[in-house]
Amino acid sequence: MSLHGTYDDDNIFAKIIRGEIPAVKVYEDDVAIAFMDLFPQGEGHTLVIPKIPKARNFLELPGDYIGSFMQRVQTVAKAVEAALKPDGIVITQFNGAPAGQTVYHLHFHIIPRWEGKQLAGHGQSGQADPDDLEKVAVRIREALS
Ligand code: 5GP
Repeated sequence: MSLHGTYDDDNIFAKIIRGEIPAVKVYEDDVAIAFMDLFPQGEGHTLVIPKIPKARNFLELPGDYIGSFMQRVQTVAKAVEAALKPDGIVITQFNGAPAGQTVYHLHFHIIPRWEGKQLAGHGQSGQADPDDLEKVAVRIREALS
C-alpha cells in the first residue's frame, strides 16, 4: 500500500470507531479513541486514533486537527505512565507499507518499556486474550479519571 491513496471506510480502525467490532478502549471523546493493541508488542501497548478525519497517515491529518489530536496522544501516554510505571515509553507511528504501516487509519503507538525487558518486533506478536488486555486497560482508565 502506497503512502497515499483512497481512504478505505472498511479498515479495521474505522470499524472500531463505528462500534462494528470490539476493542478494549481506555479513552474516547469527540477527537480521539484509544484502545489496547490486539497484538501487543509488550504489556500496555496502546493505540490512539483520530475519530473524525479520514486520514490514512500523519501526513494526511488536517493541520487544524493536529493540536487537539496530539494532546490526546499525550494524555493517554501520561495515563499509561501513571498506571504502569514503565522506565520509558516509545511513541511512534508508521506512514505507508514500506515504513511498516499495516492499518490505513492514522494511529500512534504508545509502548511502555522496562529496563532489561525485551519487546516483540513490530507486527511480530501473537493475538492477546482480551481479558488480559482488559486487566491492563482498567488501570489506564483509572489513571485517566
Ligand atoms: P501499524 O502496523 O499500521 O503501525 O499498526 C497497526 C496496529 O494495529 C498493529 O500494532 C496491530 O497489532 C494492531 N491491530 C491490528 N488489528 C487490530 C484489531 O483488530 N484490533 C486492535 N485493537 N488492534 C489491531
